[in-house]
Parts: sequence; C-alpha cells; structure tokens
Amino acid sequence: MMRIAFSPTYRYTLPAKHRFPMDKYTLLPEQLLYEGTITEANFFAPNPLPEEAILRTHTADYWHKLKTNTLSVKEIRAIGFPMRPDLIARGRVIAQGTLDCARYAFQDGVALNIAGGTHHSFADRGEGFCVYNDIAIAAHELLHTGEIRKAIVIDLDVHQGNGTAKIFERDDRVFTLSFHGARNYPTRKMTSDLDVGFPDKTEDAAYLAKLEEVLPTLLDREQPDIVFYLSGVDILATDKLGRLACTIQGCKQRDKYVFEQCAQRGLPVAVSMGGGYSERLATIIEAHANTFRMAEGVFG
Ligand SMILES: [Zn+2]
Repeated sequence: MMRIAFSPTYRYTLPAKHRFPMDKYTLLPEQLLYEGTITEANFFAPNPLPEEAILRTHTADYWHKLKTNTLSVKEIRAIGFPMRPDLIARGRVIAQGTLDCARYAFQDGVALNIAGGTHHSFADRGEGFCVYNDIAIAAHELLHTGEIRKAIVIDLDVHQGNGTAKIFERDDRVFTLSFHGARNYPTRKMTSDLDVGFPDKTEDAAYLAKLEEVLPTLLDREQPDIVFYLSGVDILATDKLGRLACTIQGCKQRDKYVFEQCAQRGLPVAVSMGGGYSERLATIIEAHANTFRMAEGVFG
C-alpha cells in the first residue's frame, strides 16, 4: 500500500494576508480521501526528526539558533515565515516524513509526503519558505546507516534547488538534477550536477521533451538506490511565482512520466511535494492531487 506522510502540524498558522497557501496541507488530504484515491489507512504521522539526524545536514550553529529562537531578523526574513517554536517543530516532523517515505518506498515502490521539498534550505541557513532541507536530511541519514550508496534528486519544482545543490556540491553519493525557470528566484543559482533552466513562458511540449531527453539516460547512468522526487506544481501558467506556462495536464503527464521511468527500473521513489502558488487554491490542490493519483496509478 502506498504510504503518505501527514500530520496536522503540517499546517502552520500564518497571518491572514500571507502569500503562502498553507491551507493546501489540510485540503489536499481531504480531497484525496473524498475522491477515493486513498483511504485513512494510507496515512502515517511521522515523529519529530532526532537531533543527530538534523546535524548530519545542518550546522550546529544553525541548529542552535533554531532551537534557541536566536536567528537574526534578517535570517528570519529570508525564510519568509513568522518564527515560532511550532515552525521549528513542524519542520522536524516533515523531514522525518520524507525519511520515512524513503523507507516505505523501498518496500512499496513509492511513498509521498504531503509537504517537504524544502530545497532552498542550506546547511547553515534557510530561505524561501524552507527551514530544514528534508531531502538532504533523508539522503544523509540513509547514507549514514548504509541503507543506500547512491541517491538521485529529481527536482522539478520551478525554482532551482539551490540549497540541495550546494549541500551535495562535492558529494558524489547524491546526484542533483534541477529543472527550473532560468529567470526565477533564486537569482543567484548554485550548481547542481545537472541544471536545466527554461526560458519564461515555456510550454508543456518543450518541458516534457527535455524531461524525456534527460531522465532515462540519467537513471540508467547513475543507478541510484533511491529517487527523491520534488514535485512542485509551480510550473503552471497560473502560478504567481512561476514564469513558465505549463498546463495542469502537462504537469500531470510530467509526474506520470517520472513515476513510470522509475517503476520500469525498479527504483523506489520518495516524493516531497514542493511549491504551488496558483491564483486559485483549487488549481493548486488539483495539481498536487494529480501527483498522488499518478503515483497510485503507476505503483498501485
Ligand atoms: Zn518552487
């Protein structure tokens, strides 16, 4: 059975006018249950990530500042959420969720986290709504325990996975692939193992053609033990922070293609949800729901 990490703590309370669509974390599980894609039995609630696992990715100094609520105003502003202890706690639960998903994926082929994909978090700082780097944490932990030798990160969120790229810059055990808008945030890009920057207004055909060109070769060459898939839905034309022009059908095809390519090779996939900032919340939910529907379709 396809396992899904979710906890009510995923929804962090924000000021009313905040631009982050926090309600998606409660609406998406409701939608998936309502339509019958999944049942309550698919869900599990992760525990908070242990401190030693945080410290395999993040610096002791950054963790100390998080724990003692002593980040500077500037550091908090870069993260973009108001800072409270429940934000620090929430991130630990989400990161453990991604780690648990990787372990469930070994068993079931796929597992998905109803959050995560916090790829703008660096070893020593957070930015862009990202406090901890969940995928880096999970990869480091699995490498540490010897559960894997090699991981690949397929980051298809429209923003470059700058934190993840930097963290694994000199680490051959984790291959980082990032598809992103060339002119999008972050303006200063880091160097992934493979970066594909798309021009503004890129449509489905060009986007999917590139994916088909790159992904199969990469999976065959790298032979990873696990795939971390960051399935951000901010590639949509309707996205306020996106700049690309993909349709919801194109985005769904993208997810299906990634799952099929992994399934064909027997590669386990741990999915972290990533961003989505379309004008209508219903569009965001529909696009994220497609990821779960495609996972169920391919692996179920
Ligand atoms: Zn994004």
